[in-house]
Amino acid sequence: MFLNSFFQDNSHYKLHQDPFSFKKELNETIILINLYRGKLVALIAFLLCLLGVFIDIFINKSRWNLIPAYKNLYYLHITGMVLFTFLIILYYINDMKNLFLNKLLHYTFIFFALLSNEILSINAQFIHGQMSAYIIAMMFISSIFLLNKVEILIIIIVSFLTFNIGLVMIHINEVDLIGNISNTLTLSVCAFTISQLFFSMYVKNFLINKELESTLKMKDEFLSLMSHELKTPLTVINAATQAIDTLCKEEMSDRLKRYMKNIKQNSNRQLRLVNNILDVTRIYSGRIKIHKKNIDIVFLTKAIVESVTLYSEGKGINLYFSSSLNNKIIGLDEEKYERILLNLLSNSIKFTNQGKCINVGISSIEDRILLEVRDEGIGIPNDKINLIFERFGQVDSSLSRQAEGTGIGLSLVKLFVEVLGGTITIKSELGKGSVFSVLLPDIKVVEESVKKDFMDSSDNRIIQSVDIELSDIYL
Ligand code: ADP
Repeated sequence: MFLNSFFQDNSHYKLHQDPFSFKKELNETIILINLYRGKLVALIAFLLCLLGVFIDIFINKSRWNLIPAYKNLYYLHITGMVLFTFLIILYYINDMKNLFLNKLLHYTFIFFALLSNEILSINAQFIHGQMSAYIIAMMFISSIFLLNKVEILIIIIVSFLTFNIGLVMIHINEVDLIGNISNTLTLSVCAFTISQLFFSMYVKNFLINKELESTLKMKDEFLSLMSHELKTPLTVINAATQAIDTLCKEEMSDRLKRYMKNIKQNSNRQLRLVNNILDVTRIYSGRIKIHKKNIDIVFLTKAIVESVTLYSEGKGINLYFSSSLNNKIIGLDEEKYERILLNLLSNSIKFTNQGKCINVGISSIEDRILLEVRDEGIGIPNDKINLIFERFGQVDSSLSRQAEGTGIGLSLVKLFVEVLGGTITIKSELGKGSVFSVLLPDIKVVEESVKKDFMDSSDNRIIQSVDIELSDIYL
């Protein structure tokens, strides 16, 4: 119902989607926000009551016999403390999964907040004749909780009636009663306006965010579709060059071989980009599949490092592998791990100059396995270190542009590491080199979960992956 009024004039927001399709999600989100804020309010109210108790005991106690309202105040503060503690406990007991219970708790929060403040307000009439507690309660409720028109109207009417009836019952004089009625009326109008302002702002932001989310999703779907379309002809080109390589090797002149090498390398570069885009969109849409099996990570890492020696030697770089473990079997997605390591190695080779070293190391740290790729390359400036894990993040300097790249590689590496349950960090010093550290969980998997299609000859795949992942490196 409340959505009707906000989106009758949809023209300002240019929403392409039906706002009502989000109604359920919006309602649930609002209740959760209200509960969280309610807990905070209960906590603050508890602390205020505690402060009140101190004031009652240390400052006002001498007046207890003279003005009984001061003594009542003490009891009200104690009751408030018990009540708000009870609400906070209820908040933590509730598992937030049941919408009905959530709603019930939310209304309980508001009901108790109002009730306690009104009793305090009426009691305050006997002390200083002010309605400050009532004002505070209404302002808190209207500005902190997200309430629709009906909810806030019920709260305003109930509190207006109970407060003023309370005043009549305690027989305050007519002039004060009229003053209080007019004050509570004005306050009610303010509370309603404030509440609806906050509520409409939240609903509009929520729907605009949804619109943005769906636009981003559409963009990712488009990227994914385009990448698929680009991949098909590339696979055919790759297969054709492979066939020419094997079938016509003898008949090809050196010049033709050079052209063929160029075609192969560049179609591999395209394939790498397309694969990376596809993987990034798969991960963001939650469609990435992880196939873990128990693998000797030391053996696999050594095999991958050895498979890129052609590239490191081609650039005159010394590539070393070391491990503090003879072997280590852990549950790992072999293909994702290869992509991670090949990406890191590709960057290290790209950004390291002739005669320098790259060290790849494996070691064990508590219940984790540490993979380190350490190079003596150009390094990354401190202010750019966080940027390089962003999608398309590159160190935009002439130094880095000496090498080819799109800036998608490391963002994918990070996403892969995270889907494998690990973390990646980097330490780098400009002009001295960089260390990429990947920590992976040292956990085995139950073998049944292994998919058959990943049991094929991994040696062959590594060779193919190397050509694709290191296609940015021109020898
Ligand atoms: P790209 O495909 O452009 O290599 P990456 O995401 O893999 O994209 O890397 C992003 C940027 O991070 C690179 O352009 C480069 O500036 C920087 N970088 C990554 N690895 C290294 C490294 N080992 N040494 C120096 N700079 C690096």
